[in-house]
Amino acid sequence: MAKLDKRSWAEPYKMKMVELLKMTTKAQRAKALKEAGFNTFLLHSDDVYIDLLTDSGTNAMSDDQWSAFMTGDEAYAGSKSFYKMEKAVKEYYGYKYIIPTHQGRAAENILSQILIKKGDIVPGNMYFTTTRLHQELAGGKFEDIIIDEAHDASNEFPFKGNVDLGKLESLVKKHGAAKIPYVCIATNVNMAGGQPISMENLKALRKYTHKHGIRIIHDMTRVAENAYFIQQREKGYEKAKIKDIVKEICSLTDGATMSAKKDALVNIGGFLATNEWDVFEEARNLVVVYEGLHTYGGLAGRDMEAIAVGIKESVNDFHQRARVGQVEYLGMKMEQYGIPIVKPIGGHGVFVDAKAFLPHLTQDQFPAQTLAAEIYLDSGVRTMERGVVSAGRKPNGENYYPKLELVRFTIPRRVYTQAHMDVIAESVAMVYDKRKKIKGLKMVYEPKYLRFFQAKFERLK
Ligand SMILES: *Cc1c(COP(=O)(O)O)cnc(C)c1O
Repeated sequence: MAKLDKRSWAEPYKMKMVELLKMTTKAQRAKALKEAGFNTFLLHSDDVYIDLLTDSGTNAMSDDQWSAFMTGDEAYAGSKSFYKMEKAVKEYYGYKYIIPTHQGRAAENILSQILIKKGDIVPGNMYFTTTRLHQELAGGKFEDIIIDEAHDASNEFPFKGNVDLGKLESLVKKHGAAKIPYVCIATNVNMAGGQPISMENLKALRKYTHKHGIRIIHDMTRVAENAYFIQQREKGYEKAKIKDIVKEICSLTDGATMSAKKDALVNIGGFLATNEWDVFEEARNLVVVYEGLHTYGGLAGRDMEAIAVGIKESVNDFHQRARVGQVEYLGMKMEQYGIPIVKPIGGHGVFVDAKAFLPHLTQDQFPAQTLAAEIYLDSGVRTMERGVVSAGRKPNGENYYPKLELVRFTIPRRVYTQAHMDVIAESVAMVYDKRKKIKGLKMVYEPKYLRFFQAKFERLK
């Protein structure tokens, strides 16, 4: 027998139900792509083979979650399922008060309305689409205070989600701490490619914000994935459990918005959490206007049951190793084919550097949008753009031109196999081989808000 230097590991679950996929021909995909205006968001999922559009709400629930689902209490007020969800949030995250919402952006809307006044500044470790929009709609201005390394796709710094305290300090000096209602900290920064913030950096930020009386609001959508990276990379945490790291991260912040559709292994749901009674009071009032009573916030009782179980499963060490491990496998496979990807490989997906992949296209020819369309055409794998289209326009109407122009291969949790990962990497390699012949796109329809969802394009001649 060959000598092994390393033993393989596999998913800590097995399958007991499968969903059959439709296989398509290239001609069918070409037609579907044209009808979708070269926007992968506008494809029918029926025409998609492997769907890597997002890891949001695409999770496979466990048998424990499905059985909890059946016990959902659909009472309008005081549902016992709400109290279970509340208990799980308190136990695993440690926040004092919670309000369920139908998804993360609903929590962002309510929180932004409560905390942000016109003219306020909201610093954050890189923007997120819905988060920034709600900050702006509430009259605030987002300021990016992430470290410069995060904007460099080839920089391999292990904590590209870190805050540059110098950048925060100059904002405080310029505007005064009173103009900064909170610093928004995302764990495992989505827009940086799923990159973590270190505990050391978060502690330093806590110290600084305490001194200036500024809150930290935690966008905790992928907190457990961030905790996994801390366990793997940060000195002193090698032996710590993900569960304990998650709790420590939360303890360094004053409140949170959560999209349970990511980390928490469900298909819909979210919440707003805070340690401040006043903020909770007001949020409890506002949630009734936008979502529903404060004990269901737009969710069915069964959804709250599934979230309570999902939160617990998400902080399991074996789960996170398999989850992030699968993403890493795909990234390493792409690297072997010479594909330019963002390094280090992120927690929820592999991000291909479209500027480096298609260097002959200008940013106004939408390289990432183009590449996502070409990959779909090749194999039916659906990815999405994270570049100039996603970045949208400034309040004054000018385009944002982000440094990063990426195609995101987001991996749903517990859904696809290692063989699927092989097929994906092979497809990207095929497109890479003929990259010089690929032409860019022009935008022919642009919606006013979050344009990447509905914009339409045509191929340049
Ligand atoms: C998905 C996401 C949100 C918004 O949550 P929804 O549930 O999609 O409304 C906010 N922040 C980050 C980092 C996200 O990934």
